[in-house]
Amino acid sequence: MKTVEGCLIIMSGPSGVGKGTIRKALMNDTSLNLAYSISMTTRPKRNGEINGVDYYFVSHEEFEQNIRKDKLLEWAEFVGNKYGTPAREVERLRALGKNVILEIEVNGAKQVIDKFKDDQKLITIFIIPPSLEELENRIRARSTESNEVIEKRLNKARNEMKLKKHYQYIILNDDPNRAALEIANIIKNH
Ligand code: 5GP
Repeated sequence: MKTVEGCLIIMSGPSGVGKGTIRKALMNDTSLNLAYSISMTTRPKRNGEINGVDYYFVSHEEFEQNIRKDKLLEWAEFVGNKYGTPAREVERLRALGKNVILEIEVNGAKQVIDKFKDDQKLITIFIIPPSLEELENRIRARSTESNEVIEKRLNKARNEMKLKKHYQYIILNDDPNRAALEIANIIKNH
């Protein structure tokens, strides 16, 4: 029997909105058959992050080489660092029937939406916070970064919120478990 190709699920939303927590809740539901696409980044590793689990942490040179060799499905710059999705792994997982989640920012998402616009199995989701004030508190509370970087992330968050119209679904993160359930239903209905 031929394996049915899995869905490609883009999950975007401003930094600090809780995408990671929602994703972890989703991954716990094994009936969804999800796989997380691990991105490549030039950003320094934060405390507790693991190479090959949270990201592939690479040098600027290595990242550039991946762009040149056309190994990235999409990539974008975010507050001074580059982030990208390794293409082959996404293809491999989808071919195995896995529903692959990309947790990426809006410019990269735009590239994927353009490339896969005829793919019925593309699902695009944008997560919004209950309010911008709450988002600001969350970014400040969790950040180990300098004030300058925090301000840049906040600015970026305000701009990203304006681009939510490009997504099929807009999900409010008032509670990560509730938001995850809503997304689980979207995936099941697809
Ligand atoms: P952070 O530094 O907080 O881990 O990530 C910053 C932003 O980059 C987040 O919005 C995150 O979703 C996004 N991001 C992570 N990986 C990728 C990727 O492979 N491509 C793109 N375009 N954005 C990514």
